[in-house]
Amino acid sequence: MSGNRTFTMIKPDAVIAGNTGGITKMIEAAGFKIIAMKKTQLSAALAGKFYEVHKARPFYGELVAYMSSGAIVPMILEKENAVEDFRKLIGATDPKKAEPGTIRAVFAKSIDANAIHGSDSDANAEIEGSFFFSQFERF
Ligand code: UDP
Ligand code: MG
Repeated sequence: MSGNRTFTMIKPDAVIAGNTGGITKMIEAAGFKIIAMKKTQLSAALAGKFYEVHKARPFYGELVAYMSSGAIVPMILEKENAVEDFRKLIGATDPKKAEPGTIRAVFAKSIDANAIHGSDSDANAEIEGSFFFSQFERF
């Protein structure tokens, strides 16, 4: 199934705002099947580990604090060309630059509290999906 799965998580701003349903509706309407999903909250230590690739970037500390500040909804998604198509569906990191109709254009509050994560490669989709789900939790 290489190339057909990606990982996403709805971030704390969107969960708190009550947009979990609106976002999963857009994901399914775009043709993605939800293979695994749960609601959970990251400790600062785990959020730091998840975003370790960004450790050197100036926003790392704030990102870790924000991502551990409330509930999140991680999911594994399936569709042909999943990683690339899902990045298109979520739009640019900064919602002001996101294409109209993308999830971030509709739901994101700011460049940091930007509603949703999407993996940037097949390899990272596998790593990030495995961070939250075991094989037995995948449909
Ligand atoms: N981020 C931030 N400030 C920035 C850039 C990124 O707070 O200037 C946060 C934002 O939540 C983003 C995450 O760090 O989603 C990861 O950054 P990346 O560049 O990987 O963006 P993404 O892949 O999420 O579009
Ligand atoms: Mg990224």
